[in-house]
Amino acid sequence: MAIKKKILIVEDERNICNFLTAVLKANNYDVIVSHTGAEAYHMITSHCPDVVLLDLGLPDIDGLSILSAVREWTQLPIVVISARAQERDKVEALDRGADDYITKPFGTSELLARIRTAIRHTYTCALDENVAQTGIFKAGDLTIDYDKHRVFIKGEDARLTQNEFKIIALLGKYAGKVLTYDYILKELWGPSARGNNQILRVNMANIRRKIEENPAEPKYIFTEVGVGYRMTQGE
Ligand code: CA
Repeated sequence: MAIKKKILIVEDERNICNFLTAVLKANNYDVIVSHTGAEAYHMITSHCPDVVLLDLGLPDIDGLSILSAVREWTQLPIVVISARAQERDKVEALDRGADDYITKPFGTSELLARIRTAIRHTYTCALDENVAQTGIFKAGDLTIDYDKHRVFIKGEDARLTQNEFKIIALLGKYAGKVLTYDYILKELWGPSARGNNQILRVNMANIRRKIEENPAEPKYIFTEVGVGYRMTQGE
């Protein structure tokens, strides 16, 4: 049996805590809860959770300070859940090392998708150095030739631009796993590109036009709404 992932909820509002706890337990997670920043810091060091859901508005310490402090020694996935909806709040949290940012109110399926992504994401990060970016990736009629830097559909060159190739190459490298928008942007264009999803959307629309029979119903690259993209499993 798979070991349950442990999630630490850091949230001072009891009703939100209770709601989150019920949802997560129903979805087979172990849950621990902290209502203050000081307690959260203690629980992260002593309980080693797999993911932290972090509220920013806490009674004792600002959530952002906890983020910075925790990031000094661990890459543990931290998903911020906050009522602060301004772009600069999101940017600041992401700059301080949050893996993701959810604005209240949020849907439970969105939350669960983002938790799954945060968990998968650490996994892929840990694997990073062992995945060689050479050879061939094949799925159906799609072939990514890493040595030639080309993508073929039914043997025909799909004529991707350099940026389009970089995106599809990265997704192919982690086929079957969801890569978040920010992860892709950061990998390909550096940390300052985080949050600039427009560049991805435009490139993805072009990629799909070139490789998918019907871009509205993709067979190769799937969108996980609000989270990221996933390449179908290779052969
Ligand atoms: Ca709060």
